[in-house]
Amino acid sequence: MYSKIQKNTKSNTLKGLRIQTVSLWIAVCTVLVAILIGYGIVNVKKHYRDLAHMTEKYILAQRYVMDLSLGSDYLTEQARLYVITKDPAHADVYFTETDVTRRREKALHKIKNQLLSDDDISVRMATDALNQSNALMDLELHAMKLAALSSRTDPSQLSEKLKEYPLSKEEFNASAKEQSDAASALVFGPEYRAKKQEIDATLSNVTENAIQVCETKQAESEASMKKALTLQSIYTVMIVLLVTLAYAMIALLILKPIKMYINCIENHNILEITGAYEFKYLAVTYNNVYEMSLAQQNLLRQKAEHDALTGLLNRQSFEQIKEKLQGLAQPLALLLIDIDVFKSINDNYGHETGDLALIKAANLLKDSFRSADYVFRIGGDEFAAILQKVTPENKETISSKIDKINTVLKHPENGFPEYSVSVGVAFSASGYSDELFRQADLALYETKENGRCGYTFYASSS
Ligand code: GH3
Ligand code: MG
Repeated sequence: MYSKIQKNTKSNTLKGLRIQTVSLWIAVCTVLVAILIGYGIVNVKKHYRDLAHMTEKYILAQRYVMDLSLGSDYLTEQARLYVITKDPAHADVYFTETDVTRRREKALHKIKNQLLSDDDISVRMATDALNQSNALMDLELHAMKLAALSSRTDPSQLSEKLKEYPLSKEEFNASAKEQSDAASALVFGPEYRAKKQEIDATLSNVTENAIQVCETKQAESEASMKKALTLQSIYTVMIVLLVTLAYAMIALLILKPIKMYINCIENHNILEITGAYEFKYLAVTYNNVYEMSLAQQNLLRQKAEHDALTGLLNRQSFEQIKEKLQGLAQPLALLLIDIDVFKSINDNYGHETGDLALIKAANLLKDSFRSADYVFRIGGDEFAAILQKVTPENKETISSKIDKINTVLKHPENGFPEYSVSVGVAFSASGYSDELFRQADLALYETKENGRCGYTFYASSS
C-alpha cells in the first residue's frame, strides 16, 4: 500500500510554493535587513559622535584663540603700565608672561593640536597672530628700555632682555622727559595701535574661519546623518513588509489549506489540492489512502451484503432490509422461491452442477425483476424477492414472470438438468411484517403441495 501511495504521489507532478523555501527566503531577508539596520545604527552613532566631537573641538579652539588674544593684551597692558609708572614690578610681570607663563605660545600649541588636521588655514593665521604679537614686543621692549633710562633705574636691576636692547646715541643722551615721551609714543602711538589692530583682525579671522569650517563640517555631518536616517526608515519599512509577507504566507499557504482540509475531512470528502507544495503533497497522499480505504470498505460491504456464490443479496441483507421496510406506508409483495427437488440435482449431477443451477436460477430472478426490487438468496436453495409498490393488481405480471422463469428452467440447453421453482406470494399494503413472511411461506408450501413448479398467491391477499 505504501509503495502505491508513493507511486501515485510521484505521478502527480505537483507544483506550488514550498513553505520551506518561502520561510528560508524570509529568514535570509530578515537577517540581511537586521544587519543593515545594525550597520545603520552604528553609522548614525558615528556621525553623531563626529558632530559632537567637532563642535567641542571648535569651542575649545575659540577659547585658546581668546587666550592668545588675552596674552597679547596682557603684555600691552604691562608694557604701558611700566612706561607710565616706571614700576619695575610691571617689567617683572611682563617678562614672567613672555618667558615663564608663555600664555600665547601655549594657546597656539593647543590650537594646533585641536585644529591642525581639519583647519590648517586657522592654524596658519593663529601662528601669524603670534608672530605679529612677537613683532609688537620689539616696540614694547624699546619703550620699556627708554622708560627705564628716563627713570634712571640702575641698569644692573634691569632684566636681561632690557639690558641687551640697543638704543641709539641720541636716545641714550636725551633728557629723561624726552626719553619718557618717546617711550609713551612707542606704546601709545599710531604705529603701535595699528599693529595691535592687525593682531586683533588676524585673531578675529581665525575665529571666523574656524566657525566657517565648523559650519561646513556640521552641514556635511547633518547630510550624512539625514541619509543614514532615511536608510533606517527604508529598512524599517522593509521589516514591516517582511512581517506582512510572513503573515500572508502563514495565512495563505498554511492556515487556509488547514481550514479547507478540516472541512473536507469533516464532510468525508477527498482533500482539495491547494496551498503550498507541502500541503498539496499531503492532500494527494491523504486522497490516495482515502480512496484505497473507500475501495476496501466497498469490497468488504459487498462481501458482507452479498452471497458469494450467486452474487445476490444474502440473508443478512434480507434481515436488514426487512427492518428498513417494516411499517412503511407503501405497498409491497414478498415472494419466497424454492428450487424443486434440488437435492436430486446434487445427487444426480454432482454438487458443482448444483451450484450452477443455483446461479442460473439466481440470474433469472435478478433479470426478471426491476432494479428497485430486492432479490435475495436466503438459504441453500431458497430465494426471496421484495417487490416495492406492488399490489394484488399486479398478480398477472408476477405470475407471468414466474412462468417465464420456469419455462427457461424446464428447457435447458447443452444437457444441463431441467428443474423448476416453486413460489409463494403475499401482498402487504403497508411495508414488511413477520405476518407477511408467514403468509408467503404458507403460499410456498401450498405450491409444493400442489405439485411444485408454479406459484400460489396467499389466499386472503387475493
Ligand atoms: P423440495 O422440492 O421439497 O424443496 O426438495 P429439495 O430436494 O429441494 O429439498 P430441500 O430444499 O430440503 O433440499 C435442499 C438442498 O440443497 C439440500 C442441500 O444439500 C442443497 N444445498 C444447499 N446449499 C447448497 C449449495 O450451496 N450448493 C449445492 N450444490 N447444494 C446445496
Ligand atoms: Mg428445495
